[in-house]
Amino acid sequence: MPDPSAESWSFETRAIHAGQDPDPTTGAVVTPISLSTTFKQDEVGQHKGYEYSRSGNPTRTAYEEQIAALEGARHGLAFASGLAAEDNVLRLLATGDRVLLGNDAYGGTYRLISKVHTQLGWTAVDLLDVDALVANWPTDTRLVWLETPTNPLLRCFDIEAICAAAHERGAIVCVDNTFATPYLQQPLSLGADIVVHSATKYLGGHSDVVGGFLALSDDDLAARLRFTQNAAGAVPSPFDCYLALRGAKTLAVRMDRHCANARAVVEMLQSHPKVESVLYPGLASHPGHRAAARQMRDFGGMVSFTMRAGRDAALRVAASTHIFTLGESLGAVESLIEHPGQMTHASAAGSPLEVPDRLVRLSVGIENVNDLVEDLRTALERA
Ligand code: PLP
Repeated sequence: MPDPSAESWSFETRAIHAGQDPDPTTGAVVTPISLSTTFKQDEVGQHKGYEYSRSGNPTRTAYEEQIAALEGARHGLAFASGLAAEDNVLRLLATGDRVLLGNDAYGGTYRLISKVHTQLGWTAVDLLDVDALVANWPTDTRLVWLETPTNPLLRCFDIEAICAAAHERGAIVCVDNTFATPYLQQPLSLGADIVVHSATKYLGGHSDVVGGFLALSDDDLAARLRFTQNAAGAVPSPFDCYLALRGAKTLAVRMDRHCANARAVVEMLQSHPKVESVLYPGLASHPGHRAAARQMRDFGGMVSFTMRAGRDAALRVAASTHIFTLGESLGAVESLIEHPGQMTHASAAGSPLEVPDRLVRLSVGIENVNDLVEDLRTALERA
């Protein structure tokens, strides 16, 4: 459970202090990396809250309390990857239960639901149209899964309206908040039951740790997820927890810079003749802009665009930048560029979640904004 005093703190203060009291024995202000796998018991069953490091670890507790405090959650659970966290949520469901999956989502999420949890039913749905969603609601639905903004089309959905519709029909809602981060959007306050993160991205923020996270406030759901976290055992190492915790301390300042840099990149892309369309939730023309403006503090650091000349031009521009590094992943200090169709979303090829082949995705980092804009402009000239 998060430190109760954290409730009165603002976001930036929580990031640096929630779960991170100085070490009571040494006074160290930095959370120690607690490597012990086992913990001494004074008598059988009498211990100081820790028995075995898969079940609980002091560095993990600090990190779990920190991120829970940022999401406004009573409970936080850390995992070895975003997909491990997602897998734990899907294990809440019984054979034959249906998942409604927003029709733009990370390819690995689609693969996990459709190819690993084959005991579940699933339907890809357009979450932009909540009335149509309600009119065609499958009665066996137990879980609605959405990203907002989505990966890679950056669609934004009305979390509050979707949660109200799902709850009326007996389903829970899991929101992947990886792109927005708790600094820009807090889905639990809008009615979501569970928030999931790939902590590999903005939470960690430095491309040096793979991790996943679940944040929620329902005690019963949390107990069930905590059981599976231990029983299935996909937990992060203490060092991973330390890195993610350290990264998340600077989340607010990083996000402000990501957003400002993304705005400048969007402006340049919009005026470039080789660019067909720019996908960014901050643009009034973008589907879901109104929802984003209502539920987000700012519009994030992810930008996608399509190339007028098609797939080959998209591949060329992705390979022509110098500061934007061609690579998978996102959300770290350095800028990245990729071709979702052949990289992050290759596993969605041929499915309802297939992405356009002329699409390029940018994770706009926190380097100097003029350098970033110039790098991209030069690559577009070459493509
Ligand atoms: N959710 C989103 C939106 C992602 O982009 C990713 C990975 O790219 C994941 C979940 C999966 O996270 P991980 O790669 O940490 O397993």
